[in-house]
Amino acid sequence: MSFVVAVDGSSGSGKGTLATAIAKKFNLMYLDTGATYRCITLEMINKKIDLKDTKKIKEMLKNVEIDFKGDDTFLNGENVTKEIREKAVNDLVSPVSKIPEVRESLTALQRKIAEGKDVILDGRDIGTVVFPNADVKIYLECDLEERAKRRLKQNQEKGIESTLEECRENLRTRDKIDSSREIAPAKPADDAIIIDTTNLTIKGVQDKVSKIIVDKKKINKIREQSYKIGEDNIGKYIYRCIVKFILRIPYLLVYFPKTTNMHYFKEVKDEGCIVTANHLNMLDAAGIIIFNHTPIDFVGKIELYKNKFLLHFFHNFQVIPVNRGKNDIESIKLCMKALKNKRVLGIFPEGTRKGLEKAEKIKNGAVYLAYKTGKKIVPVGVQGSFKPFTRVCFNYGKPFDPKDYKTDDEDWLDKASETLMKQIVELSKGPEKQD
Ligand code: C5P
Repeated sequence: MSFVVAVDGSSGSGKGTLATAIAKKFNLMYLDTGATYRCITLEMINKKIDLKDTKKIKEMLKNVEIDFKGDDTFLNGENVTKEIREKAVNDLVSPVSKIPEVRESLTALQRKIAEGKDVILDGRDIGTVVFPNADVKIYLECDLEERAKRRLKQNQEKGIESTLEECRENLRTRDKIDSSREIAPAKPADDAIIIDTTNLTIKGVQDKVSKIIVDKKKINKIREQSYKIGEDNIGKYIYRCIVKFILRIPYLLVYFPKTTNMHYFKEVKDEGCIVTANHLNMLDAAGIIIFNHTPIDFVGKIELYKNKFLLHFFHNFQVIPVNRGKNDIESIKLCMKALKNKRVLGIFPEGTRKGLEKAEKIKNGAVYLAYKTGKKIVPVGVQGSFKPFTRVCFNYGKPFDPKDYKTDDEDWLDKASETLMKQIVELSKGPEKQD
């Protein structure tokens, strides 16, 4: 599996410097996507193509060749590393980058160059358009004055003539065009990590990003080793039976557990469903699993997998790792696949232990997944204090069908999730009365 780092941000915010250093440190290929837009701009200047001449632009895009060798950029076989940084290109590159045909062609080229590789790309739309599933997304911000000073220094080092005023104006104008254009505007992806580099040293930024990459690599490794759909097998089944049998004894002796209205679960379990409960203690998930004959794949925070013993345990109990607080697409895909395979998923809508008490916003993942896969949700109220030698009850309730709560409101998922949570809270006060 390839590893993709997307670095976006405004002009002169330090993307190139960061990407170059990170590429070296982590042995990634570096693709400066801005250079591809600069090459096209240079080609349009050389061939005197008007920005509005779509026919000629299309023709040029078909025949142009952009290539990178080491630190050098080649346009139709010619080394243009220096030319693409000159004033004429600087002034025209943002208007050229607005042209839909140019964007389409260069997005395809960038994907082709990076495909299947461990790569870091910098640009404006990498995390939002080019690689929306990138492993790491960074968005750099920086004060305009500081960026102008940095750009002037860079130009002096490269022997390019410019003044502070010119650098400032060019950055300001490009920022405006880049962030306001209709297609692929420069903006942080929803799941990007935003870093303001104004008061940070180059090393400071690199250290921050290095840490983010190291963490992400660890998480990717955990994911590979942990839950794999369809991998439930007889070995895991036997392991679970033994562990459940062993744990059942102390659980019975300490908490005298009681399960009520399990028939609600039995009504829907064969089609695959989601079990949701209030979350008081690690032992509530354990109790639900131990005293239910059907395997339940709980969703668990990824940090727990760092422990080698737990990794082994979670692997056998098919626990799905989730990166909390992030838009964890990988996890969502695993959950959807599990439900489509008619498995039972376990989710705590509070997101964390005693989430209601901590006034955490109720997570809408369970309702979203059930709605998307056409499955039902079985609410379970966990009743008890988990003080030793006091009873704990698992009160199952009537299946909840998200379709019954779907409205045209934008926030229907949140509202339905709150209704579901209210039902769970009611069940945690005692079993539902039968009609
Ligand atoms: O990164 P650099 O400043 O070299 O980019 C030059 C220009 O290319 C930007 O101002 C922007 O207009 C365009 N660009 C873009 N999308 C990217 C990279 C660059 O529109 N992914």
